[in-house]
Amino acid sequence: MDVVASAAPAAAGSAAPLIELRAVTKTYGSGSAAFQALRGVDLSIDAGDFVAVMGPSGSGKSTVMNILGCLDVPSRGSYLFHGVAVQRLTQDQRALLRRRHLGFVFQGFNLLPRTSAQENVELPLLYRGEAAAQRRAAAREALASVGLAGWEHHKPAELSGGQQQRVAIARALVTRPTVLLADEPTGNLDTQRGREIMELLAGLNHERHITVLMVTHEADMAAYARRVVRFVDGRVASDAVHGAPVDAAAGAAVAAVAAPGR
Ligand code: ADP
Repeated sequence: MDVVASAAPAAAGSAAPLIELRAVTKTYGSGSAAFQALRGVDLSIDAGDFVAVMGPSGSGKSTVMNILGCLDVPSRGSYLFHGVAVQRLTQDQRALLRRRHLGFVFQGFNLLPRTSAQENVELPLLYRGEAAAQRRAAAREALASVGLAGWEHHKPAELSGGQQQRVAIARALVTRPTVLLADEPTGNLDTQRGREIMELLAGLNHERHITVLMVTHEADMAAYARRVVRFVDGRVASDAVHGAPVDAAAGAAVAAVAAPGR
């Protein structure tokens, strides 16, 4: 049974959300040291959405992103990806789901320092066991798609912060993910470079219909998203499209009429 393959983007046109968290809790530690980082999170994300996750430090943003990224599992409740209950998958199946469907972008870029842009981007394909010629072509294409054609042989130290983040985005894109999970992708960049990265992510969302989930502390970066989900004390405190509060059903209606934009 290839439960991960069955969670393929083919279902994207169906009514079911791409991602669903139902009454998710997460408790770290046990006994008197137990701490509940998530306290009953319900969240539904359709394919093609662009969601900014905001909230004060300690509110549970990283915890929820780790769960969505299949790096951790809920203590209670469920996480459905294309209707597949992720916590019922084995660790290997979860890793496969991650590799096939999810791309990650980090605040600190996380590039290998002594390795060229091209080789950094090829890495996920190397792990997949793809042939060298295929890897090379796919990495070149991914770098071109983030505006870095001609920069393939530069090492991270020879690139600006904005360019390094572009390499990291190309590395996330090279596997053609359904979802891009970005953890403060503009946190290490100045405002102008940050805006350029947001425009790139918005373009990938509009043109390639990649679902983007992004943690950010910056309201002007969150403004590029279609929807802002705000966490406070391990709960979803607000969930708004273009500043208008929505429930899940209304959200779908708004999505249908909203201009493809910020
Ligand atoms: P945010 O990303 O919004 O800053 P986190 O999800 O990192 O919040 O953390 C939520 C709460 O859970 C915080 O109080 C944090 O201290 C706690 N926490 C996070 N990870 C762990 C862990 N591995 N063990 C114990 N507590 C943790």
